[in-house]
Amino acid sequence: MLSGKIALVTGSTSGIGLGIAKALAAQGCQIMLNGFGDPAAVERTRAALEAEHRVRVRYDDADLTRPGEVTALVDATLEALGAVDILVNNAGIQHTAPVDAFPPEKWDAILATNLSAAFHAIQRAVPAMKERGFGRIVNTASVHGLVGSVNKAAYVAAKHGLVGLTKVVALETAGTGITCNAICPGWTHTALIQQQIVARAQALGVTVEEGERELLSEKQPSKQFVTTEQLGALVVFLCSDAAAQLTGAAVPVDGGWTAQ
Ligand code: NAD
Repeated sequence: MLSGKIALVTGSTSGIGLGIAKALAAQGCQIMLNGFGDPAAVERTRAALEAEHRVRVRYDDADLTRPGEVTALVDATLEALGAVDILVNNAGIQHTAPVDAFPPEKWDAILATNLSAAFHAIQRAVPAMKERGFGRIVNTASVHGLVGSVNKAAYVAAKHGLVGLTKVVALETAGTGITCNAICPGWTHTALIQQQIVARAQALGVTVEEGERELLSEKQPSKQFVTTEQLGALVVFLCSDAAAQLTGAAVPVDGGWTAQ
């Protein structure tokens, strides 16, 4: 169904973004990967994806805190693969601290990566999507785009902003063949939350495994991590024809976190 479509997935060298890139490649999409990482490891990931799914996979190391690099990434995808049918704004970073001790430079970096990069990419990609009469924009928000948690001022502000941006883009593109949605994962076991797990285990004087259980039981009623495969499958659905009228939504995938 998605065979031959071209997908740019930001922050896809690890975690959720890589899960989404794999799921789209498995549907026959050509992929532009992006994110940081050891060049040899990134090349292994790129080549493996290409070989396994027999699709073209390219990689661009754009630093999304720099608006010029974000727009250049969209241009590079158009140039290398011919279109951006699917844009997944997924790259994100985290820093935790109480608001009165939150380092301003961390605030700026989180807002730039988790929110402004999506704006710059969408602005650059939408004109060509409109010309083609097709586009799927998926923004990786978070449960923290829907509810708050202590010590996450920048992250929660950025993710709420991303949900707002999602709604506006959905309204402005309604009826053009383009949809724009946000996915809102709860705890997903990736590098991004590892530090929080370790910090919690240390604070409680327990093992990392007990730290994980503690983290889950505080907020995620299922007491199970969301998987990157589950999120990849959701993005495939959002990109499908069946989801053509699903736009402007912020879809929680959180084991019940935001039902409370
Ligand atoms: P991760 O650390 O494994 O992945 C983050 C990706 O973003 C990596 O590829 C990294 O290289 C890339 N990245 C970071 N800064 C970048 C920059 N300046 N320019 C380009 N790429 C950059 O973490 P993850 O958990 O997979 O996070 C992916 C997204 O999912 C983030 O937006 C995060 O906020 C969101 N999210 C994660 C969870 C969770 O529990 N892990 C929950 C909800 C939402």
